[in-house]
Amino acid sequence: VGKSEAYSEWYNRIVEESGLIDKRYPIKGMNVWRPYGLQLRNNIDAIIRREMTRTAHDEVEFPLLIPKTEFAKEADHIKGFDAEVFWVTHGGLNQLDIPLAVRPTSETAMYPIFRLWIRSHTDLPLKQFQIVNTFRYETKHTRPFIRVREIHFFEAHTCHSTYEDAELQIQEDLEIWSRIAEDLCLPYVVNRRPEWDKFPGAHYSLGADVLTPELKTLQSATIHQYKTNFSKAYEIMYETPNETREYAHQTTYGMSERLVGAVVAIHGDDKGLVLPPAVAPVQVVMVPIIFDDSRERVLAQCEKLFSTIREAGIRVQLDKREETAGFKFNDWEMRGVPVRVEVGPKDVDAQRVMIVTRHDRRKVEASVERLVDAVRESLGKVQVGLKERARQVVLANTHNAKDLSEAAKFRGLVRVSWCGKVECGKVFEEKAGKSVLGKPVKELETGKAVQSACLACGESPSEVALLANTY
Ligand SMILES: [Zn+2]
Repeated sequence: VGKSEAYSEWYNRIVEESGLIDKRYPIKGMNVWRPYGLQLRNNIDAIIRREMTRTAHDEVEFPLLIPKTEFAKEADHIKGFDAEVFWVTHGGLNQLDIPLAVRPTSETAMYPIFRLWIRSHTDLPLKQFQIVNTFRYETKHTRPFIRVREIHFFEAHTCHSTYEDAELQIQEDLEIWSRIAEDLCLPYVVNRRPEWDKFPGAHYSLGADVLTPELKTLQSATIHQYKTNFSKAYEIMYETPNETREYAHQTTYGMSERLVGAVVAIHGDDKGLVLPPAVAPVQVVMVPIIFDDSRERVLAQCEKLFSTIREAGIRVQLDKREETAGFKFNDWEMRGVPVRVEVGPKDVDAQRVMIVTRHDRRKVEASVERLVDAVRESLGKVQVGLKERARQVVLANTHNAKDLSEAAKFRGLVRVSWCGKVECGKVFEEKAGKSVLGKPVKELETGKAVQSACLACGESPSEVALLANTY
């Protein structure tokens, strides 16, 4: 199935055929991670952990279940999650006195404990994160990695003595995101979500959105400024140097297996996955071109070159299966391996290899002396090529709408002028048939002009808002 002709079918098939997941588990929205998918996910988690370590966050793990009494303390929060929570109501044959929520997110699990841990200003900032599964009762159509009921989830929670410190944390979060997006070759926009779409309980929310081939945006990372909304509900207080007691200011940062979905959706092609080198479980596959009369010396050369690449710290596999070279090419292309090294009898004679890059399927020759350098160069080409290709798609699908009928017609990211009033935002959503992503904090290109007056009420001055169809 071609990606451009039948995207949804392509996506649903590719996630299984490439060996990422098995969708046959008998609960809607809960999939089995197969080894290849889990390796990819673990590699993404490793990048997240690298970034957390670099920025002095500590990893923790809180329990899965949250007593209803704690879960209900912040009013907006419980209202926002009410329809999505799975509840444990029984322990064996006994009905529980207090029902237990299966975490949809962990604010209400962590904050009663943060209250005990934070005493003094010297305990701040507190910067912690966990990578755990969360559960949400999705009623909409589920889709692997993008809309699921069991979600592999990253959540960082921080506490600060002042609002300004919390704002600095949000700047650090944006920098962390830019580095993760770089490794995943994902171009993105960051928007400050409109009031009606912020996280339940947040003072404000930022969302990093990527554009998929369906020209819908996928929220891939969220950052929330809580101010003291939760610390007041959970009494998270600290003693200042002047011995007064103040509420802590809090932020959170969330990402999920949607990052896997974004990588699959944005970089894949008709032949299968195309994985960014930084996270590909197999970065390089070596395929021997076997003929009966030269089998031994080709395999011997492959073993030697395979060791050289592996010792350089590159994730490499040597495919010695009894299959044709053509079969192996297709198989590894389906799995999205960024670089293929081919070795045939003539290559052994000439002490060279052929190197093929997955994203453009270009073939170059390299001498065995500079094998490792040549492989690294090719991995670098895939990294740059994937990012640039995805960037061009976003640029080609970013539009300035001069009125609401244009906003309705355009697909992709649509820029409009907005006075900022909620009622005008609602008019955009209704007339353009799209969601208001919010006011852009970061775009790929901000140079293009839009009308100066709000497209709904005509008032000026106004600012840019981004509209798009979302998942
Ligand atoms: Zn307006």
